[in-house]
Parts: sequence; C-alpha cells; structure tokens
Amino acid sequence: MLNQRQIIKDLLQSTAFDTEVHVKGWVQTTRMNPYIAFIALNDGSTINHLQIVADISIFGQEFIDKIKNTGTCIAVTGKLVESQGAGQRVEVQATQIELYGESDPVSYKLQAKRHSMEFMREIAHLRPRTRTFGAILRIRHTLAYAVHKYFNDNGFFYLHTPIITGSDAEGAGEMFRVTTLDPVNPPLTEDGQVDYKQDFFGKPTNLTVSGQLEGELGAMALSKIYTFGPTFRAENSNTTRHLAEFWMIEPEVAFNDLEDNMNLAEDFVKYVIGYAMEHCSDDLAFLENRLIEEEKNKKQEERSPMPLLEKLRFVLDNPFERLTYTEAVDILVKSKPAQKGQFKYPVSWGIDLQSEHERYLVEKHFKKPVILTNYPKDIKAFYMRQDDDGKTVRAMDVLFPGIGEIIGGSQREERYEKLHTRIKELHIPEESLWWYLETRQYGTAPHAGFGLGFERLVLFVTGMTNIRDVIPFPRTPQNAEF
Ligand code: ATP
Ligand code: MN
Repeated sequence: MLNQRQIIKDLLQSTAFDTEVHVKGWVQTTRMNPYIAFIALNDGSTINHLQIVADISIFGQEFIDKIKNTGTCIAVTGKLVESQGAGQRVEVQATQIELYGESDPVSYKLQAKRHSMEFMREIAHLRPRTRTFGAILRIRHTLAYAVHKYFNDNGFFYLHTPIITGSDAEGAGEMFRVTTLDPVNPPLTEDGQVDYKQDFFGKPTNLTVSGQLEGELGAMALSKIYTFGPTFRAENSNTTRHLAEFWMIEPEVAFNDLEDNMNLAEDFVKYVIGYAMEHCSDDLAFLENRLIEEEKNKKQEERSPMPLLEKLRFVLDNPFERLTYTEAVDILVKSKPAQKGQFKYPVSWGIDLQSEHERYLVEKHFKKPVILTNYPKDIKAFYMRQDDDGKTVRAMDVLFPGIGEIIGGSQREERYEKLHTRIKELHIPEESLWWYLETRQYGTAPHAGFGLGFERLVLFVTGMTNIRDVIPFPRTPQNAEF
C-alpha cells in the first residue's frame, strides 16, 4: 500500500480542514499545560514546524512524557484544523500517535538550545536535524539542482570525468594516492623503489584534483560540457575556505575565448544564486535572521555590510567589475593599507595575490564581485593560453566578498607548439599527457572553461563563515569522522 504520509511542507500550505492527515517526523520542542501537549514536529521538508495538539486525557501522561522529548520520532494521525494560537496557520489535533524512536533527554547530544558551530561539527551525525543545518542542506540541494538545470537549459552535456586519475600533471595541488599495495611490505623493484607495476592499475594513481583535462577532451567533441563531481586535495590548509574533499563544477566550451568565459561565469553564478533566492526563501530568511543575531555580539566593523538577502540581490543586480591583474596590482600598490604597510604580504607585479589583497579589492575598493584577468604566466598553470606580450596568460579569477576566489578559469592554450614548449619548460612529464597533447595535434580549437568550488558558492549563499558547515560531512586534515 502507498505510504500515506503527508509532508509537513505541504500540510502547512493546505486548506483541507477537518480531513484526516498522517505525518511523521522528529519532535523539536514540546509545550505543556495540565491538559494539552503542543508538540512542534519537523520532517525536514521545510524549516517550519507543524504543531501537533495532543490531549493528555486521551494519550495518558506516561505516554506523553515518552514522546515529548527533543529528537523523538513519532507518527501522527489526526485532524487538520485552523490554528487557534498565534504563530501558525494550521495544526493537527492528534487522534493516534505511534512512537518510533525515543530520545533520552539526558544523553541526547542535540538539545533544543543554541550550540556552537564547533560542537555541531563533532555531532555531524545529528546536526542535519537542526534548523540551521536543515536550511543549509536544502539550499545546497537547490543550488546543485540549479547547476544542472542551467547547463541543461543552455545546451551543455554533463560529462562524468574520472575520480581516479593516472596523470600526476594536473598541477592543481597535492594529491591523495590510490593503491591496493600492502603498505607494510610493498613489492620493490631491483633498485629498492616501490614497484607500482604490481599495483592495481599497473602504475601510480591518485584521486583527482580537477576534471578539467578530461573535460577539455569532451569539449573537443560535444562543444559544451560541464563536470560536477568530487575533487580531492591533500593540501594541509586549515582555513575556513579549504576542504580536502570538495565538489567542483567545471564547464568547458569549444570556441569560447576569455571574454565569453567571463560572460558565462557571471551569467551562471547569477542564475544559480537567483534560483536559490526564488526557491529557498524561508530557509534564507531564517539564515539571515540567524546571522543578524550572531553578529549582535560583534564589533560594528566586523559585521556584514548588508543583510544576507540584500547582499545576494546586490550581486544579481550589479555587473561584476572586470580588470587585469596588472591594473589590480596598480590599485593595490597605491592603496592605503599598502602605503601604511598594513598588508602582511607586500604587493608587487608578479606575486600571487593573497586573500588579504583579493578581499581589499572586492570589499573595500570596488565593493562588488571582481573578475581579474591576464595573470603572470609564472603563477598560473601550464595549459593557460599565452598572451602576445610573453608575460601573461588568459587566466581569470572571480573574487567574491567574504570568500575571495570562488572561480578560477582560463582560455586554454590550443596551439600545439606553445603548449609543448611550456610543458618542457616546466619539466612536466610529457608522456603522462600524450592524450592531452593530441587534442592540439588533431582538430585543435580555441576553447575556455573554469572551475567553481561548489562549497564556496554554498558558503556565499548561506552567509555561513566556515566551509566545514556547508557540506554534510567535511573532510579536513586530521578529520574523517562520520
Ligand atoms: P585557492 O587559491 O583558494 O586555494 P585554487 O587556486 O587552488 O584556490 P583552483 O585550483 O583554481 O583553486 O580551483 C578552482 C576552484 O575550486 C576555486 O576557485 C575554489 O572555488 C575551489 N577550491 C579550490 N581549492 C579548494 C579547497 N581546498 N576546498 C574547497 N574549494 C576549493
Ligand atoms: Mn588551492
């Protein structure tokens, strides 16, 4: 028989008064007077709770005492009625309550009070039950859906690039090794090295740091592709913006140049943010209020300049500022913090911009998202298209307030000779990239693409401050619990 459960999100909108309804969920809080228990029930379909009204003379005090505790799971049959009390439009007058799972109020770790974000990370198995994490997870889902919708509606194909990679030339960061060899007694070659010929794939393999190189192969046939998958970086960066396992969205488009690439990035990011605003308004309103409450304890200058929704709206309504790396360095060199020696890392042409520099440009100087282009070739990857000046490449980074880099991309070097020379100059093992080089030998074409870190996008949209709080189960150095 069909499960007759109705979801709370629908019931809260319903006008089918005096009909029998069936709901299931977890008790958030219970208020009681001597006659009636008012139970706030949530099933995760919405941030809002459904009020269950239970007459204690029907169910008995003993039973009510068992089901009233935060975290208890119950199934309720009852009558949907217009609510008498303030705070909700409808409520359910319970006729039957089934207890699925008790929750001991003494030992249950997630009490109905405010816990610190740090503590919640220690109970990541339970934190999805809180309103804050429920909101974040629903927004995360909606953003992921919007990503696929945007690309599908615009003629892109979803290409599944490999997670295990045999090329060590992706160059985007430290990699995690994948092996089935015995770590204690690995087979050795005659000169005492680990003999990877005897490993599962017959050679060393790693978890991918990016799907881009394979994405380019797809674009050279399907014209417009995107990847959306997990990526792994074994970098020991304990920041609020880095994870060891994160999800990346990487479109790659044949016949696009750097300008097209910027237009795509801006249009795409605005679309997905707008989609979340349209479809997650309750969750976003909740997170906005949460942020206002949280920031009350902060000094004026540490508070966000705008409430969350206004900030998102602002990003949608204003064109991103576009300028070259060289122009940005000029601004930074002349800036107040540079003149007063307040930057931790001094600025000059050729340096890799630090987060403090990026944030100065975005938050202080332009006060909106910024796209920086044409970076020095020595600080960017081998595959970026070289400019005619011989010094810069057609790179672009999109910088966001509060986040810094959210997108990194480029027009790719499609000229075989230039690419081959660059690979040699950088001593990249050519033989591991033979297939990549062949795309430049047979039917090469101008093309461009970028990578958007999905968690950095979720961070921006939810207004959270630590990337560990926008992925269900974060992987960071020394942490792979759950
Ligand atoms: P950063 O300088 O911030 O470490 P990156 O230059 O290493 O970033 P890319 O290699 O260009 O980043 O990756 C593309 C995008 O992936 C970045 O713009 C960012 O949004 C995201 N990203 C990169 N590294 C991480 C990470 N460790 N955790 C989460 N997201 C990341
Ligand atoms: Mn990095």
